[in-house]
Amino acid sequence: MKNDISHDLFTRAQQLMPGGVNSPVRAFKSVGGEPFFAARAEGAYLIDVDGNRYVDYIGSWGPMIAGHAHPQVLDAVAKVLRDGLSFGVPNALEVTMAETITRLVPSCEMVRMVNSGTEATLSAIRLARGATGRNKIVKFEGCYHGHGDSFLVKAGSGMLTLGVPTSPGVPKALADLTLTLPYNDFEAATNLFDEAGAEIAGVIVEPIVGNANCILPRDGYLEHLRALCTQHGALLIFDEVMTGFRVALGGAQARYSITPDLSTFGKIIGGGMPVCAYGGRRDLMQQIAPSGPIYQAGTLSGNPVAMAAGLATLALIQAPGFHASLEKRTHELCDGLEAAAREAGVAVTTTRSCAMFGLYFTDQRVETYAQAVACDTAAFNRFFHGILRRGVYFAPSAFEAGFLSSAHGDIEIGHTLEAAREAFRETRA
Ligand SMILES: *Cc1c(COP(=O)(O)O)cnc(C)c1O
Repeated sequence: MKNDISHDLFTRAQQLMPGGVNSPVRAFKSVGGEPFFAARAEGAYLIDVDGNRYVDYIGSWGPMIAGHAHPQVLDAVAKVLRDGLSFGVPNALEVTMAETITRLVPSCEMVRMVNSGTEATLSAIRLARGATGRNKIVKFEGCYHGHGDSFLVKAGSGMLTLGVPTSPGVPKALADLTLTLPYNDFEAATNLFDEAGAEIAGVIVEPIVGNANCILPRDGYLEHLRALCTQHGALLIFDEVMTGFRVALGGAQARYSITPDLSTFGKIIGGGMPVCAYGGRRDLMQQIAPSGPIYQAGTLSGNPVAMAAGLATLALIQAPGFHASLEKRTHELCDGLEAAAREAGVAVTTTRSCAMFGLYFTDQRVETYAQAVACDTAAFNRFFHGILRRGVYFAPSAFEAGFLSSAHGDIEIGHTLEAAREAFRETRA
């Protein structure tokens, strides 16, 4: 596989940007080697600057659920593009977007658009603090909520990939306000609320943990969190930046029938553009400026071109059977990966939820963060490079979920499983 142009670009990039990238996990630091530079993408494929084609299981880390460069999304963008890139006054697409989100996610009676998941989550906890008059926030080990100060405590994603539990630069006084819990541990949550319930403004959780690979909630766990929050007057915040519109049309809250007080969204709602949102109960959202005193703003929030891409993507995923057929494909892929690993004598288990999945190098069923981090990351790294050489791109970290799109068809799954059989054999050797 040729990589001359990518190698040259990465050499230059490393002199100019920290680690040569604009977001840490892209640098391939934990898997070793060098990243490839994308030239373009179409459907289920990424094509790099050296002309290599990869079946892509990242989809820009989530947004591309309808496949890359979907003609309907591109057309929608092209159509609004000529009217101007940004206005700084309200535009009609923002209203359509708010109508769409509140219709698809009934717990969100009102929403506010922002530009990144980080912005969505830190706005949500500001609202939780402002509305409750309390300061403490509860998060879970291995959950990632963007890079806001309050969240960089035992965080997942790049923090976990690079093995840094907390970030320098976060004042201790602020970090002390973040309490962490082990995900899926019922008793630990009960105990924390017994001790500190009256100080807790909100609990923020990835209802399915997609930033420590992919950990599903145990039966009744999300209900337990809902009940604790209600009982102690704390707000339940579902961070659905990843799971929103992916694990079901209405997100994880629809899949598990839980009504959070606040939710955050991103990734899919932008269809590849920087669009995110937070929303929730009307009485809470009305406390946001300018209708209320809790301040939050954004120069480019609700950008018309970005709204157009997001709306076109949300239109595509509302097609009947969209999620059901994705779910079927994910099962095919995961069952196939497990079988291929078994054949090669490599211990692998998978987790799945509709269009996202986790691949763990262990023979255990993974239900906790401790189990996720105990997996054989060296074996994962060998597998990652083995399958990459065969034209399949999995996340360059043992701690990131994989994503399917509606463009992943029989050919792509077939090619992936073929490549996986060979890569697992190499992994063992
Ligand atoms: C990606 C992600 C974020 C952060 O979003 P950015 O747009 O990268 O700031 C927050 N929460 C979850 C669950 C995510 O997966």
